[in-house]
Amino acid sequence: MCVFCKIAKGEIPSNKVLESDDFICFHDLNPRAPIHLLIIPKIHVENFQEMPSQLMGEMTSFIQEVASKMGLDQSGYRLITNNGEDGGQEVMHLHFHLLGGTKLSWTHFTPDDTHKAL
Ligand code: AMP
Repeated sequence: MCVFCKIAKGEIPSNKVLESDDFICFHDLNPRAPIHLLIIPKIHVENFQEMPSQLMGEMTSFIQEVASKMGLDQSGYRLITNNGEDGGQEVMHLHFHLLGGTKLSWTHFTPDDTHKAL
């Protein structure tokens, strides 16, 4: 069983922010912003590419609720999902990173990356 399935089942601890029947939000272990949360579906979905669109629709509302609960709905935040190897995904259970609490920079995309993509 993957690490996020274990978190979803409560088999390993997490610093939980919000939970519903289908989703859970908890703090990232290695935060890269003043607020760095992870939001996952409780069922195992490998990544965004595998996510059923109906469940994604429900996840949208859950993510919006998390942003409001954290007071980020007005100030703004960044939502990221790393998908697969080139996307830099390390944990193979779909998760959205929700980052905020400061004005975020955009430094991880270098001009080099852009040229490689073209
Ligand atoms: P990604 O590279 O998108 O797969 O990101 C995986 C994220 O999961 C990283 O930011 C890790 O810090 C985070 N992470 C891994 N294990 C845990 C855990 N047990 N609790 C909270 N965050 C975790």
